[in-house]
Amino acid sequence: MTYRYKAYQLSNIDKNPELQSHVPQAEIEEMKVVAHVLPHKVNNYYNQEIIDWENYQFDPGFRLVYPQRDMLPPALFEIVKEYLETFSDKEERKIFLNSIRLKLNPHPAGQKTHNVPIMDGLELHSLQHKYAETLLIFPYHAHTCAAYCQMCFRWPLFVDDEAMKFTVGKKINIQMEVALEYIRRHPEITNALITGGDPMVMAPKLLRQYIRPLFEANIPHLQAIRIGSKQLSYQPYTFTQGKKAQQILQLFQEVTDAGIHLSFMAHFSHKRELETESVQEAIKNILSTGANMRTQSPVLRFVNDKWQEWAGMWKKQTTMGMIPYYFFVVRDTGAQDYFAVSLERAWNIFRDAYSRVSGLARTVRGPSMSCIPGKVEITGISKIFGVKLFNLRFLQGRNPEWVGHPFYAKYDPKAIWMDDLQPVIGNKFFFEEEMPIFDKAIGSEMIPLELMPTKNEPVPQIPVQMLQG
Ligand code: SF4
Repeated sequence: MTYRYKAYQLSNIDKNPELQSHVPQAEIEEMKVVAHVLPHKVNNYYNQEIIDWENYQFDPGFRLVYPQRDMLPPALFEIVKEYLETFSDKEERKIFLNSIRLKLNPHPAGQKTHNVPIMDGLELHSLQHKYAETLLIFPYHAHTCAAYCQMCFRWPLFVDDEAMKFTVGKKINIQMEVALEYIRRHPEITNALITGGDPMVMAPKLLRQYIRPLFEANIPHLQAIRIGSKQLSYQPYTFTQGKKAQQILQLFQEVTDAGIHLSFMAHFSHKRELETESVQEAIKNILSTGANMRTQSPVLRFVNDKWQEWAGMWKKQTTMGMIPYYFFVVRDTGAQDYFAVSLERAWNIFRDAYSRVSGLARTVRGPSMSCIPGKVEITGISKIFGVKLFNLRFLQGRNPEWVGHPFYAKYDPKAIWMDDLQPVIGNKFFFEEEMPIFDKAIGSEMIPLELMPTKNEPVPQIPVQMLQG
């Protein structure tokens, strides 16, 4: 039987059969209020094969993809609800809802302000260059996912407001020419990460147009292509069914045959996502192309905030041939307060799980916070002369020199993010002194000085018509 993908969003939420038959209408009405602010999308695979609807209130999959009233602060929920009950004009609603979204830190970790590189004086909005060796490429055609995680840190890509998106045009050849030229000029870039949204929602012939130029360009320093995706959790049939699956696997095979390392960065949130027949077949198929698979997810309250869940995932992933990679702290955006666990709790969950898996699964790093200066890992909680401290280090830094050096923060049992932490001595962490130097995408420093914009000078954009189809 061919599986046909069917998505349910706010616009057709009343036609979502599983939701309608298991969840009281009053609860669905609350979901609708939240879904006007935080994008909502789920699909028939996740509904039918992942969520246990008989216990939906406690089901990790349900909590991951369905909006809940508490995802908005109570006062904000009431404001949005009242507004929607009172005003129906589409354009006015759009302006209002975007103003609400702006209160929820839609672009964490400087995604739009600090990571967009500049080449020949132009901001390249389809790329991000935060760490020296890795360039992120955002395909225009991957500004969506097969379902939406409610804690998503790229959620502005999914809302009806161009200004919130990573603006790129439809012309793939121009986007890729720009990306290749940028990579050629930056010998420090060894990895291109195709990201989104989810690149695996693209039709194979579109995906090919983004990936093929990367391995055909024959740039000696470009050694690896990574694909960041949650498609194995949300729609594994992509890799198992029909001609499309064959075309994708063929493309992966071509990458590895070209001697380029292909790493599929798979996002799995809880064990059930690894258990269906289709996901197991899909993983085997991807591995058969010579691609590597690395796994990652944030730790989320209600979804995976138990060490048993993580130990189980890492064991299963290793058995299936994947490499556990990152245990993230949920980012400071959108529904962070709903999903966040304290940094202390995140560390305890990580440590308890890590200590119970074999060395094969101890490839995982974390708890890691992807914040503006870099990826900061909590390596422990110490007591020195009776004083509790968080032990930290950079796994990645805007300045590569920061990586690996231990540093410390005052213990705070309520802290959920880097911004909540205070240095032990003085009022600044060591890297904060240097942050003004690194407040642009890393490659931007390599443009001729005369082209570097000053702080007060707006940077010209690539003319939109150049990129539009
Ligand atoms: S898969 Fe990634 S980009 Fe897509 S909704 Fe989830 S977190 Fe966001």
